[in-house]
Amino acid sequence: MSAPDPLLRAAPRLDVERVREDFPILRQQVHGKPLVYLDNGASAQKPQQVIEAVTRCYREYYSNIHRGIHMLSQTATAAFEEARGKVARFLNAPSEKEIIFTRGCTEAINLVAYSYVRPRLRAGDEILISAMEHHSNIVPWQILCEETGAKLVVVPISDAGEISLEDVESRITERTRIVGIMQVSNALGTINPVREIVRIAHARSVAVLVDGAQAVPRMAVDVQDIGADFYAFSSHKLYGPTGVGVLYGRLDLLKTMPPWQGGGDMIRSVSFERTEFAEPPARFEAGTPNIAGVIGLGAAVDYVTALDLRAIEAHEADLLRYATELVSEIPGVRIIGTAAEKAGVLSFVMEDAHPHDIGTILDADGVAIRSGHHCAQPVMQRFGIPATARASFGLYNTRVEVEQLAASIRKVRDLFA
Ligand code: PMP
Repeated sequence: MSAPDPLLRAAPRLDVERVREDFPILRQQVHGKPLVYLDNGASAQKPQQVIEAVTRCYREYYSNIHRGIHMLSQTATAAFEEARGKVARFLNAPSEKEIIFTRGCTEAINLVAYSYVRPRLRAGDEILISAMEHHSNIVPWQILCEETGAKLVVVPISDAGEISLEDVESRITERTRIVGIMQVSNALGTINPVREIVRIAHARSVAVLVDGAQAVPRMAVDVQDIGADFYAFSSHKLYGPTGVGVLYGRLDLLKTMPPWQGGGDMIRSVSFERTEFAEPPARFEAGTPNIAGVIGLGAAVDYVTALDLRAIEAHEADLLRYATELVSEIPGVRIIGTAAEKAGVLSFVMEDAHPHDIGTILDADGVAIRSGHHCAQPVMQRFGIPATARASFGLYNTRVEVEQLAASIRKVRDLFA
């Protein structure tokens, strides 16, 4: 047996039973059974602290931001900008000016595509991604390639669901304009070596966008340590409200980028002859943002920070290990995604049972998992399957829930055997 990871050993313990009390939605029954929520990769539930922060905003000080000189507007502006500071510290970004609020991770990636890459892209240029990307880190690049005659280059994945650094290195050329890579795969659970990928790309003067949608809820992220030029994530997977996302971008790059949407709040001055754009981040935040949502994201950041991301990571690692052990013992089950470095995502298929049947039978037991292609159809094609069933863990899941998952999967097997 290998020695335990010293970082994990040092991690504080998560008091899961205490934590569960913060999530009112978990107290309910589904089909007469206690809810076992294992669809956190799609979206996570919200703690009372987040719900209250959003409610307090609407009850006590809601107003539009950045414009009014009246009391409510100033309070709302202060709370909104305070959330920006929280996110900057959460990612260890050097400056709050590097934090742009968007509608989600998808919009953050599109912002980079349209504002950073598109003005630099010529016919024959290349965009490098991996074969495990979410559609949101594939389709925006394909649209740009169609428009410009640029080429999408894809790093392959192994049978275990890993990419190799050699494959990344060999595919970066003189024509590569950006590398887009996910830190944690939503379909396979693979943790990619993003720090090393950034080092390889930077040695060739190529910028890197990291899709951190599945990473920020599961591990401490330090954008300076990773060295990423851009880092994107969604609030709703981090126990925060929906409709909010974040793009971190290096300030020197953001300053070179044109706006990608025009409107209020992103200008310095407007006349019909000429408009001067505001400095980042305002330049990229046209229109009224999701004010209460951003404030709720600030509360979510406070929440996971207080619990300690190292404790959350260790807890999910334990759940993943236990689930892998129990589920792989079930005859006919094949786990898809067996990377050495994996986060709390367990995708699997079963002989004779379609993933949708698995999802339906588990739902009858109150166990919520996801069945489908997980917005990663190329991953399904790579493994020659139409879909997988996927359990994805969150900070409030327990070992008992993992046992319920395994017991329900056994039922599926008994039904289909
Ligand atoms: N990237 C990854 C890895 C994801 O899992 C998701 C959401 N499933 C996204 C990007 C897109 O996030 P959103 O839909 O919140 O914009």
